[in-house]
Amino acid sequence: MTDQPRFEIPIRPPARVTGWAGDRATPGGGPELPVHYPATGAQISVLVEDDAASVGLAVRAARRAFDQGPWPSLSTAERISLLERCGKIIRDHADELARLECAATGLLLRELKERHMLRAAYNFRFFADYISQRAGERYDQTPGYLTTVVREPVGVAALIAPWNAPVALATMKIAAALAFGNTCVLKPSEQTPLALARLVALLQEVLPEGVLNLVNGRGPVTGAALVAHPGVDLVSFTGGTETGRMIMSAAGQRLVPCTMELGGKSANVIFASADFERALDGALLGIFSNNGQQCLAGSRILVERAIFDDFIERFIARAKNIRVGDPTDPATEIGPLASLPHMSRVLGFAETARADGGRVLTGGTRRDDLGAGYFVHPTAVTVPSNAARTAQDEIFGPFATFLPFESAEEAATIANDTAFGLVSYVWSDHLPTVMQMTEALRSGVVWVNTPMMRELRAPFGGFKNSGVGREGGAACEAFYTEEKTVTMPKTPPPLRRLGLGE
Ligand code: NAD
Repeated sequence: MTDQPRFEIPIRPPARVTGWAGDRATPGGGPELPVHYPATGAQISVLVEDDAASVGLAVRAARRAFDQGPWPSLSTAERISLLERCGKIIRDHADELARLECAATGLLLRELKERHMLRAAYNFRFFADYISQRAGERYDQTPGYLTTVVREPVGVAALIAPWNAPVALATMKIAAALAFGNTCVLKPSEQTPLALARLVALLQEVLPEGVLNLVNGRGPVTGAALVAHPGVDLVSFTGGTETGRMIMSAAGQRLVPCTMELGGKSANVIFASADFERALDGALLGIFSNNGQQCLAGSRILVERAIFDDFIERFIARAKNIRVGDPTDPATEIGPLASLPHMSRVLGFAETARADGGRVLTGGTRRDDLGAGYFVHPTAVTVPSNAARTAQDEIFGPFATFLPFESAEEAATIANDTAFGLVSYVWSDHLPTVMQMTEALRSGVVWVNTPMMRELRAPFGGFKNSGVGREGGAACEAFYTEEKTVTMPKTPPPLRRLGLGE
């Protein structure tokens, strides 16, 4: 092991991470849980788990800030100014936040700085702009009466985030919840609490007390206590489908509205009529970006039979050439997976593919030369049919499953033959084929001739087991506000009079 690389931790994180209830650290009450650097496996910090009582303090702080504080009734101009300051804080601390995020997730530092943190800052800027443009509704069809519809904040939002892009995903929720006047309690993944804990501490410097609170800990303990707390008015969740089911059942007991951004098994459909090189670049990005750990990964690559062998050959050559290693090195293209159990699960799918009659084309093994970190070879398999488990299960790693198709109809049938429906990708320069596919595909987003390209004004979310509800401009406005209809006569007309005995 002595000649193996020792990857430096990108930053020295705090020794202990705690939550926040208003302007105080939460007491925790639960065990201390280790946080590891995925590039070495070394423990680098601990988080103090918040038990139900500790969660209660955070919810009560958010409740007070909503029920008694100024936040819900701030003027739009004041709220815009605070949201813009939040965005600026993220830009000013982008390097530090990216390093903390890298230390807990193993995501590429360069990507974190250049994409995730800028996106996080932009989430605040976007919602500041959005609320500056909000239009009202006014109806006067009923003669003599005026009806207006106002949108009011809902209350205390529980925001539950996953480990695969913590700051980028959580800031979408925080910015949206705050923009529409709600207060929040954020629960990051217990695996990746570092950057979000620092971010909450930074944002608390400009936000009124209790507007943004933080709890840490495992899902079934801290997360479950948060969802079940009677002071919570809505739940925004991003994570796995099975967790989503549990959270929605628990929230349903109290009729609390939820949005669910869940898993995916998205089809990347490549026609012979596509620009071959561009589709190849897109397919590699689609499955290997973010260390392969993304909900919108194009993890089932469906290729038209006429170009199937050529495409796979070129894909494998490029996959073998990908630089796997130190996430802080700007030249690295794939870093470590997020945790040891996750790496074992991902690698287990190579055996699953073989058991289902498939062939491992490349990868399927650990990078033993990179020390104790959770590094794997980028992996690609072919399977005999879409029924194979590697074509149906979300693997959530750098693991592509290839299948051939003969026609657009067959491609759409295979693409739709899954429990998920988050996104789809279509690669073709033949317009009728593109139109046919965009109509046939059962997913919340269809990207044509491009890898993922998020437009924040447009809704993002999944069909089927990939989600309930959407995130994005108007979708967030609908979720984070209650509509109130107010009707009044312009000049009070006479009313029908009861009980006069006439
Ligand atoms: P996960 O479901 O294991 O955990 C997500 C969050 O839920 C964590 O904070 C966890 O602690 C919490 N949690 C777990 N059990 C809970 C419970 N009973 N009550 C309350 N909270 C609970 O997911 P993960 O492994 O962190 O993330 C990976 C998953 O997230 C993948 O399935 C991926 O597709 C999905 N994801 C979806 C999107 C999207 O936008 N659709 C984006 C990113 C990730």
